[in-house]
Amino acid sequence: MSEPAEIKLIKSIFTEGFDHLCSGILKNPYQQKYFDRSEIEKLKKIHMEAFLSGMEDDLNNVKRNGFILGKIHFSLSIPFSATLTNLEKMEYVLSGFLKTKGSNEGFDLEETLEKIDKVYQLLKNSIAYGYLYSFLQIDKVVIREKLRTVKHSEEELRFYVKEHLVWLNKIIEDIKKLRCKSSVELDVNRCKFSRLLEDEAVLNISRKKYDIVRDIHDKIHKTAIDIYYSIEERNFINLLFDYINLQKLSAQFLSLLTVKIAVRSVEDANIDPLTGVLNRRPMEFILNNQYQISKISNRPVSIALLDIDDFKKINDNYGHLVGDKVIKQVSSILQKSLRKSDLIFRFGGEEFLIFMPFTEKKDAFKVMEKLRKRIEEKDIVCGDDVIRVTVSIGVEGATLHPNETVNDIIERADKKMLRAKKTGKNKVVI
Ligand code: GH3
Ligand code: MG
Ligand code: MG
Repeated sequence: MSEPAEIKLIKSIFTEGFDHLCSGILKNPYQQKYFDRSEIEKLKKIHMEAFLSGMEDDLNNVKRNGFILGKIHFSLSIPFSATLTNLEKMEYVLSGFLKTKGSNEGFDLEETLEKIDKVYQLLKNSIAYGYLYSFLQIDKVVIREKLRTVKHSEEELRFYVKEHLVWLNKIIEDIKKLRCKSSVELDVNRCKFSRLLEDEAVLNISRKKYDIVRDIHDKIHKTAIDIYYSIEERNFINLLFDYINLQKLSAQFLSLLTVKIAVRSVEDANIDPLTGVLNRRPMEFILNNQYQISKISNRPVSIALLDIDDFKKINDNYGHLVGDKVIKQVSSILQKSLRKSDLIFRFGGEEFLIFMPFTEKKDAFKVMEKLRKRIEEKDIVCGDDVIRVTVSIGVEGATLHPNETVNDIIERADKKMLRAKKTGKNKVVI
């Protein structure tokens, strides 16, 4: 292609082809939002230089300019698939023009068409590399930030999130350096996370979700294997698609784990570890809300305070561990006996607060009386000892007076509970 006349023809065909393509792009509502005229001029210049270099067998210059084009397209947020389609259209238009115009110019049409095809293969691959490079730059920063937020915590799930991020980071390094021998564990069976998956208790999720997590994890490993194969082949188009796929899977995987971590830390903060009922931390917030709902809907609510009788003696006679077991047993009877809509809080050491929505005081009394009997009759087995405990309960209902607060009801219930204590214990007072 050293003849200036031929170069001139190729240039004019390129310009005509490019302008034809651009007018199509600017009419396409899906594509036009990405481009403005000045950018198109810039892209045209670089694209033309890449193309002409290719026609003159300067393949390094095709790669260089393709890489730049990829980075620019990425920065304009143009999806790679759209760029790929445009490149294919461009090649098609060029070949078409060449067939109609070039046949009279006396050069080998077949050979030139083949060359154009080769140049565009290389150009597409280099543009993919430019995209990939841009993705890697951003993802490295994102992963570093995520790693900083995953503290070096004891929590097992956090440990796995961290491990996964480190793993991903190493793959990114390998891609950047185009290393086809991986510096990470690719075998899914030897991956640390597979060991976690063997212990379902750690994840504590339903079978269905568990299968989803495992499926995503398998796919992550398969995609990673594909990545190294694409690196070896220097197939940047496949590598880019593999990498985008890996990131997508990884995001799903991490969000499943982090949602789990978030739920767990809310639970840790608000649930009493000994009994599994709510602790006092969220009590005020929850009760105020519930009480407002009752007020608005003008429905009754009742609150009961329950305290184990002579609990000090249990601790003194059997020790604190047995004492703990008794508290746990009483709480378990509460959870089994009450309605799902009732709320149970561990109010103090061996005291519980029970909030009963939509319940009249007299009905609450009946429920509490049944509960009291059930506790009284329960044999609590601790080693060789069989212990029985009783409880005193104070019950109060809301007046729904405009100025009344939940604390007012709790205070009144507390007074009734104390009256139960003073008048012999093992009773419910309303
Ligand atoms: P009363 O019938 O008047 O309620 O007598 P009591 O002995 O139960 O008296 P009180 O409620 O004042 O004492 C409760 C005791 O419970 C005091 C504390 O040492 C013990 N305690 C509080 N929290 C725990 C706990 O989590 N585990 C154990 N084992 N004991 C606790
Ligand atoms: Mg007490
Ligand atoms: Mg007590």
